[in-house]
Amino acid sequence: MRKMRSAGCWGASFILWLTSTAATANPDSLSGARNAWRAGDYVSAAKIISRLLPPVGQTTEALYIQGTSACRIPSLEDNGWVLLDEVRKRPLTQEQRAVVSLELRDCGQKAKPKTLNSGWLIPASITIESKTFYWLDKRAAPMSQTIEVNEVDDSALAARRRPLDAADAVDVAQQQLENCIVLQQDGFIVCSKSGQSADDLHYAVTALKNHIAWLRAAFGFERPAQTIYVYLVPDIFSLQSLAAKSHGIELAYGTIGYAFERDLSVSAVVSGRKIGTLLHEITHLIVHNAYPNAPQWLEEGLASLYETSKMCGGITLGVPNWRAQILEQSWSKRVTLDAALRANWFQFSPSGYMAEGTRDAASYFSLIRQSLMRLQDQGDLGSLVRAMQSEDGRRLQVAQLLDGSSKITRLGAADRSVAAFRNGAGHLPAFEAEVRKSTGAVDSGMVPAWALARAASAKLTVCTDRQSQSVVSKALDQTD
Ligand SMILES: [Zn+2]
Repeated sequence: MRKMRSAGCWGASFILWLTSTAATANPDSLSGARNAWRAGDYVSAAKIISRLLPPVGQTTEALYIQGTSACRIPSLEDNGWVLLDEVRKRPLTQEQRAVVSLELRDCGQKAKPKTLNSGWLIPASITIESKTFYWLDKRAAPMSQTIEVNEVDDSALAARRRPLDAADAVDVAQQQLENCIVLQQDGFIVCSKSGQSADDLHYAVTALKNHIAWLRAAFGFERPAQTIYVYLVPDIFSLQSLAAKSHGIELAYGTIGYAFERDLSVSAVVSGRKIGTLLHEITHLIVHNAYPNAPQWLEEGLASLYETSKMCGGITLGVPNWRAQILEQSWSKRVTLDAALRANWFQFSPSGYMAEGTRDAASYFSLIRQSLMRLQDQGDLGSLVRAMQSEDGRRLQVAQLLDGSSKITRLGAADRSVAAFRNGAGHLPAFEAEVRKSTGAVDSGMVPAWALARAASAKLTVCTDRQSQSVVSKALDQTD
């Protein structure tokens, strides 16, 4: 379905939508678990959470309640430990991470668990000027930053989640960004106030759709079976007001894009067809939704890999960008791959307003992008990501069962990352040296053998430089 609609007509369908999603009381709810937990009934709290389906049953708060509860049930301490270790690995504020670390250390004790304050962090793309990366030429470049999200009304966000191609999703979008031009196509709503033509919007949706299909084919990440909203704005001021109004976020200056999972949206400053930031953010949305306990090196690495890419033969291929230069120039003081794989979420991210001393962050982000690109070119990226996800998923599932029947070892999340990466990359220091040498096979117009074979067997356009540019041009590189 493809519909162009401009602003203005959202009367009748909006009322229908309000009445059709009236909440029904559910005894097995997160708030039910929260109440039992507060009352010290840890068995009930843990059991309620284990009956909640994803995504509710796997939210950070749900896992924290379940983990701290299991830590207080003698036969289930190991499960509790694993759950809390999963929580510690997620995007948390410093204060939250300190609380989780204490609970992890004290797992098995009977004292009342500490409350995990609300307020969450999400990764966002920002523009960095050369005054920060003084060793680069003067140009703007996107990198990752964290923004803190205050508690937003859950029911309002949940109500925005609409079935694929639901007609009233157009109204939802236009409530967030008034007077936008809307295209509804393939389960997306693109809502633009950034001057795109109908063809430009069609181009953007097609690229996002193809990329999501690739994420599924390569890594098994399923897209949520609901409408994904894409908001395009002309400048950072418009992005700030959208974020404040729709998502309760105060964006730091320089933020050019973010993904917000709870209403399945990506919002970005985009001009014309320069959709690199959108590809970055939609990757965050899809990966995080399908693999909520993904470590940052994996999620951010994939998001940044595809921010500059070619699409051909049903494949999205990350190609070299400005981050390679940062890695080269920060090499002697870089964050090592071993440290990058062990890092907690946001350990190296600048947060709040533009932070000084972001060299480690820049080095970390370029190293993980270049490393994933190297694995991509070798043909080993898909198996690494799938192995990580299935092991993490299995541990989460077993830990959530809470019947103590399956044994889980207390192998920490950080060690699992290193072990899994070594399977694909071998000896880490040797791999790092290769990463430094490689500029990416695709840079020279070459295409990895696996990509050629895959495209040929699917009888799709084989990836060559010239042909791929006619599919999705170099405009994908927004840093041009
Ligand atoms: Zn990111």
